[in-house]
Amino acid sequence: VTWCSQNNLELNSLKTVIKTAEDCARQYMNFMNVIFAAQKQNILIDACVLDSDSGLLQQACDITGGLYLKIPQKIALAQYLLWVFLPDLEQRPQLVLPPPVHVDYRAACFCHRNLIEIGYVCSVCLSIFCNFSPICTTCETAFKIQLPQMMKSKKKKLKQSI
Ligand SMILES: [Zn+2]
Ligand SMILES: [Zn+2]
Repeated sequence: VTWCSQNNLELNSLKTVIKTAEDCARQYMNFMNVIFAAQKQNILIDACVLDSDSGLLQQACDITGGLYLKIPQKIALAQYLLWVFLPDLEQRPQLVLPPPVHVDYRAACFCHRNLIEIGYVCSVCLSIFCNFSPICTTCETAFKIQLPQMMKSKKKKLKQSI
């Protein structure tokens, strides 16, 4: 479950996301699009996390300049909302806020949801895969790249047929 509240300011907008459930793999693409749209329009995304950490929300806050906080005590939720998330952008520099978190910038592959550092990216839809596949499973684009491995297997087949 994710609630969003919007706090419009003169120049910049602020969006607060309260996260209480696990990240949903199906929403990954939509959420990445939201992050980039927010970045273009100078909208800050804040994240108040009640459950497990979210790499996606960490990236969203880092990219847009918002605050990411996994609250240490759920019972104090109201205090954290008032102290950290309620103040607007002009008031924030005057407050002592929680230090920024280390952002995990690894991306999850679309095939297994594993976090990977090096992988294959579809040039059409930017889906990420840990293994090479000749057809993108997200947008069904067929790649015309011949990898050395594929050429080798073709040669083997030729030899077998001879
Ligand atoms: Zn994978
Ligand atoms: Zn694709």
